[in-house]
Amino acid sequence: MGVRSLTLKDKLNRPLKDIRISVTDRCNFRCFFCMPPDKDIQFLDRKELLTYEEIAKLVKILSQLGVRKVRITGGEPLMRAHLENLIALLSDIEGIKDIALTTNGYKLAQKVKDLKEAGLKRITVSLITLRQERFVSMIGRNVDLEEIIEGIEEAKEVGLEPVKINTVVVKGVNDDEIIDIAEFCRERGLVLRFIEFMDVGTLNGWNMEKVVSAEEILNILSRKYPVEELPKKDESETSLRFKFKDINLEFGIIASVTKPFCRGCTRLRLSADGKFYTCLFSSVGHDVKSLLRGGASEEDIKAFVENLWLNREDRYSELRTQEGVKNLPKVEMFRVGG
Ligand code: SF4
Repeated sequence: MGVRSLTLKDKLNRPLKDIRISVTDRCNFRCFFCMPPDKDIQFLDRKELLTYEEIAKLVKILSQLGVRKVRITGGEPLMRAHLENLIALLSDIEGIKDIALTTNGYKLAQKVKDLKEAGLKRITVSLITLRQERFVSMIGRNVDLEEIIEGIEEAKEVGLEPVKINTVVVKGVNDDEIIDIAEFCRERGLVLRFIEFMDVGTLNGWNMEKVVSAEEILNILSRKYPVEELPKKDESETSLRFKFKDINLEFGIIASVTKPFCRGCTRLRLSADGKFYTCLFSSVGHDVKSLLRGGASEEDIKAFVENLWLNREDRYSELRTQEGVKNLPKVEMFRVGG
């Protein structure tokens, strides 16, 4: 008998369908648009992290409230040991239909086969430049770009489909590589998503001048390739969808700044230390770890999540320029996963 679940809707009538789980706030990169290398970061202590069993218990409860998709993020999730064990636990949860991972690709080539065998369905790899020197300066670490490319190719090799590529575009930094990165993905059949630079967290020195809009990105691509717009597969999809007509390959643009998609946002986030966040730009985390470790029943935890979601009215991207919103403190992206 299938999983019977409630359809929980928030104050903007959005159902709870997706959970993004940060399994660690640590990362082996220090990308300037997320965790700049010159910032002093206090990372979580190991004992503060939810165990894989605790995460699986929460996901089981969430699946009874309508969650069908899980995305594993970080920081850098591959920094957490034996991640395949978590994926195996999540794969056993009846209601969960989709398990995806977002990674910077470091060490991916070595780990992706185990992750796939444990039940990983899809993967998204961040690729912000194809130039070695620029790569090192953007991530603040001396890492060989070839290692990331090997990881991407190995992900294809083991049969993860689709393999998506996320490219944050920042004006004056990597916007001169839009065509090169598109060509790289076209040659390999990778589903590319360009991401407008966002004012996530409080550390990346964001301002509107540094944003290359979805329209600008599309103009650059359309001058070079035959492009066609595609309808969204699902109201909650974050990406504007297009395809390269000549090779029938999809690509997307995530335009949180110029074309907010809050009205379709069905995502809840869980930080590595057991707090729920109802928006990427939240300033408040809702502690569920003390319930878990305090012996609360599944029903208690379910009621906690229901109350949280029923009262949710986040739509930061629609309000980001408004007084009273733009200066609110925000959780750092590496604590809740992008
Ligand atoms: S800004 Fe918040 S509410 Fe809007 S789409 Fe992003 S996470 Fe969802």
